[in-house]
Amino acid sequence: MEKKKNIAILGSTGSIGTQALEVIRANADSFCVEVLTGNGNADLLIQQAIEFNPNTVVIADESKYQYVKAALAAYDIKVFAGNKAIAEVVQMDSIETVIAAIVGYAGLESTISAIKAGKQIALANKETLVVAGDLVTSLAKEKGVNLYPVDSEHSAIFQCLAGEFHNPIEKIYLTASGGPFRGKETAFLSTVKKEQALKHPNWEMGAKITIDSASLMNKGLEVIEAKWLFGLKPEQIDVIVHPQSIIHSLVQFTDGSMKAQMGLPDMKLPIQYAIGYPNRIKSDFPRFNFMNYPQLTFEKADTKTFRNLALAFEAMNKGGNAPCILNAANEIAVEAFLKDKIGFLQMSDLVEKCLQTIFFIEKPNYSDYVATDKETREAASRILKN
Ligand code: NDP
Ligand code: MG
Repeated sequence: MEKKKNIAILGSTGSIGTQALEVIRANADSFCVEVLTGNGNADLLIQQAIEFNPNTVVIADESKYQYVKAALAAYDIKVFAGNKAIAEVVQMDSIETVIAAIVGYAGLESTISAIKAGKQIALANKETLVVAGDLVTSLAKEKGVNLYPVDSEHSAIFQCLAGEFHNPIEKIYLTASGGPFRGKETAFLSTVKKEQALKHPNWEMGAKITIDSASLMNKGLEVIEAKWLFGLKPEQIDVIVHPQSIIHSLVQFTDGSMKAQMGLPDMKLPIQYAIGYPNRIKSDFPRFNFMNYPQLTFEKADTKTFRNLALAFEAMNKGGNAPCILNAANEIAVEAFLKDKIGFLQMSDLVEKCLQTIFFIEKPNYSDYVATDKETREAASRILKN
């Protein structure tokens, strides 16, 4: 029997994290959990630790350290707290693959740290590539680290490319469900509340990405993520709305042939492909039935109404620290929307304002990204107060 693969799950208490644990639970002879990390949800982290018996757990929220430590006192599990500790434990010799599933900019430091230590990365945290795609991908290359996409669209493209890595890509099409407000107009969007935006038609996800999906910022972030993962020029990336979420994305090669990857929407599949690569692991996930989907449909994305997608393309084309500004402003915007402090459309206003006003840096280094993120958050918070 092959040796079990040792996995660290950063963000194990989240939507991706818990589904990664389901995959591991179902394949306990192939994978072993070495590290688990959470932030606010200490009880779930404790419960996961007791079930999976990792070497180490880290609770990012330091105020919950004593609570977690006490609950796990009877177990042979090391407990640490804080994001610095996450960045340190991912470098442990015993870890082979790190599932980067923290949400937002908060996941950047630990992902970079894992790459520096030569760990293979199953990447869910798309914001890492949006913020610092040039640094992250060149570091991965230097360290011989593969970034296996967990995001379903990027996993689809990666699956289409398997066996074709030597063939140039002409173009990729990222599919988008269109979210809960597909086909709606600006007047309607100006009235929507978080309860409506949190209802995604096809996917169950964390709150931030669910709002991003409703505003199409998620697709914008994914366009930038694709540029870095697959080494593409902006004009090689297109978005097509496909409300059924069955075709997860497509690649078009230079001979005009297109390959698509299909299946029912279920994140466990791309998660398991990312940690099992190059092998496909047998699963009992529900199978697609053509008769349930007599029509697969396609539409153009409405970037006039959903300005976030246009803003993301703009930031990608501009390059430098512009995507980092876009991301930070969006994180503040989503947080404010989730607290009912701003309306749905004001999220795009805030992102646009920050892109216009924050100092542009053409070739940022790591500290420039850290500074840009901080400056943008401060500026965005100031704008919201006025
Ligand atoms: P969730 O909000 O469900 O989970 C986020 C995880 O990160 C939780 O474990 C949370 O801890 C932890 N976390 C939050 N803030 C911090 C912080 N400041 N420091 C350390 N840890 C933190 O998000 P999702 O699982 O939905 O998404 C995770 C990532 O995967 C995102 O980047 C998202 O874009 C991407 N992704 C998600 C998909 C999905 O289907 N959910 C699909 C494709 C990509 P706690 O809960 O304990 O507070
Ligand atoms: Mg996606």
